Amino acid sequence: MRTLIGEAGSIYMHLDSKANSVAGPPSGPSQTSLSDLTACPACDLLLDACTVPPGYRLRCPRCNTVVQRAVADSVSKALAISLTGLLLYLPAMLMPIMTFSIAGMKGSGNVVDAFRVLLEKGYYIVGLMVMATSILFPLMKLTLLFVVSFGLTFRRFTNRLAGCFRAYGHLAEWGMVEVYMLAILITIIKMHKMADIQYNIGFFCFCLLVLITVSASVVVDPHRFWQHIGNLSAGGLPSLMAPARQRLPLTAREAGIVRCHDCGLLVCAQAASTPDIDRCPRCNAELHMRKPDSLNRTWALVICAAIFFLPANILPIMRVDWLGVPEVSTILDGILYFFSTGEYGIGAIIFTASVLVPLFKVVGIMIILLSIHFRRRQWLENKTAMFHFIEFIGRWSFLDIFVIALLGALVQFGTLTSIEAAPAALYFTAVVLATMLAAIAFDTRILWDVCSEPNHGTQTVPTREDA
Ligand SMILES: [Zn+2]
Ligand SMILES: [Zn+2]
Repeated sequence: MRTLIGEAGSIYMHLDSKANSVAGPPSGPSQTSLSDLTACPACDLLLDACTVPPGYRLRCPRCNTVVQRAVADSVSKALAISLTGLLLYLPAMLMPIMTFSIAGMKGSGNVVDAFRVLLEKGYYIVGLMVMATSILFPLMKLTLLFVVSFGLTFRRFTNRLAGCFRAYGHLAEWGMVEVYMLAILITIIKMHKMADIQYNIGFFCFCLLVLITVSASVVVDPHRFWQHIGNLSAGGLPSLMAPARQRLPLTAREAGIVRCHDCGLLVCAQAASTPDIDRCPRCNAELHMRKPDSLNRTWALVICAAIFFLPANILPIMRVDWLGVPEVSTILDGILYFFSTGEYGIGAIIFTASVLVPLFKVVGIMIILLSIHFRRRQWLENKTAMFHFIEFIGRWSFLDIFVIALLGALVQFGTLTSIEAAPAALYFTAVVLATMLAAIAFDTRILWDVCSEPNHGTQTVPTREDA
């Protein structure tokens, strides 16, 4: 890892580097390097870097965000898990998942069929989203993780590892095999009264693939990976509270330090007022004090999501031809069906994923944006936690789309009995996509920048995102 000393020294003349530290070896101010520090990704608070023991999480004392999560033997575990995942991938995707038998007619399908049927019916955007999130991105995530952990273990492809791990980080929430698994379970519950269901080998391979994917996200310790990558050119865990600095400057921005969005490396900007916009020496990502144009992009995306939310709920989302009798149903019809048949649990899951979650995301992000606009300093920690929750639940709204895609692939009994997507599927995909992109475009540090303002007045505007 490249360590920046020298220029940073002038900034640390007034940074009593170790006075309030409870961790890390003592060093004189002139020896203080940026590797002795870390910055909270959510609120920009400068913290002393400390060694987090495996099994612990380091939390930010100001906003409670997890700054670091240490996993023992992260790289070797990731290598084993990603290799297993790659071996399971093809059978999980290509073997038939289930066979439905209705009145002597049989239909079976695999994960690939689900998106192929959507494309055949002309739902190109929905089909491509289903293909990307259930087939392409999970494969890319496993491959990238395998390449990086293999490269770190055997010291191969050293100059490509940073780019690969950056791409892995960006794809994190876009591979949705876990959501797909829940969609398979809901499809089973939806169809078990109407059809005989036979589970095929693909079903079991897919279950294992989901298990592998979840394990991979648990064992990857990004901090450790980035440390290893830098050196070549750590659930239900106890928390460590990181020591807060009592003296100014409090945040990385005030100290003239830029935190890389992708790898978390701290890089010294020339001065706080005129920071260098350059590339990260470790991962080559563009450096910005705040995500560029964050507020405008988040507003635009969240307004798009709000507009598409109405047709997504009013128009029919699914068309069922049952023995020649066509019937269309909206999201709400699907939920009411489960409640009318007494399956309240599934009804509640679909209602939460398809109606409550998108609504909560749109309203939640708008509340956060408005509070920035009006310079509100109250409940910053709660708003940050709400945003992390919105980020976490974003992908689960794809549930309904996956269920429709699966039913479309599995229930194709000629022209008399079939299930296919209807126009609201497109609007619903747009809602989920827009809210996920809005969460990516937003920079929570802008929420906390209000604390750096000298007074409550609305005339001070130190919140330029791309300063
Ligand atoms: Zn924080
Ligand atoms: Zn970086």
